[in-house]
Amino acid sequence: MGTLFRITLYAHSEGEAKAACHAAFARVAELDNALSDYKPDSELNRICKEAAGRPVAVSPGLLAVLAASQKLAEETGGAFDVTLGPVTRLWRRARAEGRPPEADALREAASRTGYRKLHLDAARGTVLLDQAGMQLDVGGIGKGFAADEVLQVLAGLGIRRALVAASGDLAFGDPPPGKKGWRIGVDEAGRPDAEFTRVLELSNAAVSTSGEAEQNLESAGRKYSHIIDPATSMGLTRAITVTVVARRGLDADALSTALSVMGPRRGMAYIETRVDAAAMMMVSGKVVESTRWGSFGQ
Ligand code: ADP
Ligand code: MG
Repeated sequence: MGTLFRITLYAHSEGEAKAACHAAFARVAELDNALSDYKPDSELNRICKEAAGRPVAVSPGLLAVLAASQKLAEETGGAFDVTLGPVTRLWRRARAEGRPPEADALREAASRTGYRKLHLDAARGTVLLDQAGMQLDVGGIGKGFAADEVLQVLAGLGIRRALVAASGDLAFGDPPPGKKGWRIGVDEAGRPDAEFTRVLELSNAAVSTSGEAEQNLESAGRKYSHIIDPATSMGLTRAITVTVVARRGLDADALSTALSVMGPRRGMAYIETRVDAAAMMMVSGKVVESTRWGSFGQ
């Protein structure tokens, strides 16, 4: 998944802790083999080759990720879209080459995208793609899902006091002993020298931040984010950072990506409909909070 996973947990003994971490990282490796679009032989990439025009069975993990993705795509009017793969690949190459993709190439790639061309059959556990040359990219949701899965593996071994961090995506189980929650610093000021202006204390919840300026392309005075607006196939150019708190890592991760695309007006209107989540956005230095933001994690 192109990132580092870090696990913090409390166990009764060092042996128990080590065995738990071992099982947890084995699950991360398994999910990486399923969800990665970098690995040519991942389950995701195999499906892209085989599922055009005929249903193909997929693992429960990948099916769960795709089902959540499709639901969010419907609810956000396509702002979140895991069929963007042909377009995100062009932008990935563009970042390596230092200039934006050609308009023709983007148009051609976009003709192979669209969440309505991806069909899931939950009962049969299959995926069907309408068109050859489609490419799925679950980079906006997979890390949050993997964090949830790690917590589940640990809980299955009797370990509930745990924190999983995959770069900007964090998920928390029960609090550390004697604590109300896991303390997470959030910057609500957005200055370059900013310190954490708010501390959330979270348990059995997750938090994700999207839009941190680590992965973007600068060209002709414009900065393009690695988050793509499916309506234009362009990397976002407005400076926006979105932090989402939710019950599950999968939701926090996908929502932070979706809200970045939707922007403050549409994004906040949508997040208010989600009783399981809250959001804080910084748009060119201005802070916007959803009504549940202030009380989440208190
Ligand atoms: P990060 O990977 O830095 O944590 P995100 O969670 O926001 O950031 O995910 C960004 C990734 O999601 C991109 O690298 C790309 O793989 C994918 N992506 C880009 N735009 C969209 C979109 N509109 N909908 C769904 N996934 C997207
Ligand atoms: Mg995300």
